[in-house]
Amino acid sequence: MRIIFLGAPGAGKGTQAELVSKKAGIPTISTGVILREAIKNKTPLGVSAQSYIEKGQLVPDELVIDILTDRLMQPDCKDGYILDGFPRTIAQAEALDKMNIKIDKVVNIYVPDEKIVERLAGRRSCPSCGATYHVVYNPSEDGVHCTKCTSELTQRTDDKPETILNRLEVYHKQTAPLEEFYRNRGILCDVVGQEELEDTTALTMKVLGLK
Ligand code: AMP
Repeated sequence: MRIIFLGAPGAGKGTQAELVSKKAGIPTISTGVILREAIKNKTPLGVSAQSYIEKGQLVPDELVIDILTDRLMQPDCKDGYILDGFPRTIAQAEALDKMNIKIDKVVNIYVPDEKIVERLAGRRSCPSCGATYHVVYNPSEDGVHCTKCTSELTQRTDDKPETILNRLEVYHKQTAPLEEFYRNRGILCDVVGQEELEDTTALTMKVLGLK
């Protein structure tokens, strides 16, 4: 099964993708995670990507397409995968077509803009294991440290208020057209993001036919 998670930043793509990944036994590939790792390790890719990410802009298509192409060649992708945060432009979706990759389902998580701002501003993540939390909706056990690995939680630099609005604008202009692109192919499944994480998960599992 090859699944794409679509939706604004902070809609819950990463969280739901991880849960589906566990359930379906296929890996989640997140271009955002790969890019942040590259920035942390100061690799040439990280150095090229950093300024775009910090401004809330998209990293150029050629760069992310290359990253994804390499990642999909790893053996763990042979039985399927979940793409979280890719494609983000029509050109990236067309790159998947050119690679002859047949996507089975695209889960489109909808959350209104006002909620997105609240969600991103309250998002915290673990710099060590990558787990994500929200100060109100999905707090870690003590609110300060990662429940899984006890590292101190941090806020992503691109989750700062000044960058959030930029990212939303970029989403509406460059990524939202993908909804139509995949709807026209009959593989788009809409999920309305719910207040409770578990309720969104239930809807996600239902559209994917997973119990
Ligand atoms: P995410 O973790 O998916 O929210 O991604 C964080 C940031 O990484 C985005 O705001 C972009 O700057 C960059 N990024 C991640 N995936 C892509 C992509 N497919 N195309 C372009 N930029 C991306």
